[in-house]
Amino acid sequence: MGEARLPGSLDVLLRQARTILREAGIAGAAFDARLIVEHFAGTSQAELIASPDRAVTDDEAKAVLAAVRERAEGKPVHRILGYREFYGLKLMLSPETLEPRPDTETLVDMVLPHLRQTVGRKGTCTILDMGTGTGAIALALLSAVPEARAVGTDISGHALATARANADMNGYSERFVTRRSDWFGEIEESFDLIVSNPPYIATAEMDDLPGEVRKHDPITALHGGADGLDAYRKIAAKAGRHLNAAGAVAVEVGSSQAIDVKEVFASSGFRTASVAADLAGHDRAILF
Ligand code: GLN
Repeated sequence: MGEARLPGSLDVLLRQARTILREAGIAGAAFDARLIVEHFAGTSQAELIASPDRAVTDDEAKAVLAAVRERAEGKPVHRILGYREFYGLKLMLSPETLEPRPDTETLVDMVLPHLRQTVGRKGTCTILDMGTGTGAIALALLSAVPEARAVGTDISGHALATARANADMNGYSERFVTRRSDWFGEIEESFDLIVSNPPYIATAEMDDLPGEVRKHDPITALHGGADGLDAYRKIAAKAGRHLNAAGAVAVEVGSSQAIDVKEVFASSGFRTASVAADLAGHDRAILF
C-alpha cells in the first residue's frame, strides 16, 4: 500500500487534524487541532484565517499528524507542545512539573493586594513559592509586581531547571532564584509572602483523577497523603517562623478542602484573611 498523500495546505491540514481528534472523542478537538497546527506548521491564528491555502511542506504535515496522533491517544495538548500559557506568560513544561492550571490564576490574583500593600510600606517585597514546578506562581507574581523578588523551591532538581529556564525566557531571571528544598528544609530566611500550590489529592482519590492528569502530571505534585492535607500541615507548622512582620501565607486547595485547610492553619495560629473562588465557583485559594 502506498503512503497516503500529505495535506498540501493549512486549511486541509487543519480540517484533517480536527476530524481525527473528533473521531477519537477528544473534547475541544477544534481548539487542540488549531494549537497543534500553529505550533508544528510554524504558523499563527492570524495566518490560518488570512491565508488558509498557504502551502505546507511534507515535514510540517508529518510533524502535525504525528502530534495529532499523540493527542488522539490521550496525551494532553500542552504536554505535546511542551509549553502552556499561564497568566500571560509562556511556560515550558517537563515531566517533573505539574501543568499549570487556569484555576491557579485565582491564587495569583488573590495575593496581589497583599503584595502591593507590602510594596507601599517597604518599597519591596519578598516571596517564597514552595513546590514551584514550572515557576508559574512566582513568575506570574513577578510579572504583576515589578518590585517583588522570589525564591522558588522544589524537591525536584529537574523542575527547578525548568523554572529557571522559564524565568530566563520571560525576563525574570534577576528577580527569581531557585533552591532545592523539601518544604522548609533549606529555608532559613523570612518572607513577606509564602505561597504554594502543594500536592493535595488524597490517596483514595488518586485513582479517580482523569487519565490525562494521572498519567502525565508528576505524582509528587499531586499526592497529598492519606487525606490530601499532609503538605498543608507541613507548611502551617513552620510558616510562622519564616514570615516577616505583617507577612502572609497563601495556598491553593482542592475543590472541597477549604474548611479542612482553614482548620489546619487555625490550629497553628493563623487567621483567614481571604478566600477566593475559581471559575467553577469552588473555594480554591486561601490567604492567611
Ligand atoms: N488541580 C490539580 C488537579 O486536580 C491538582 C494539583 C495539586 O494537587 N496541587 O488536577
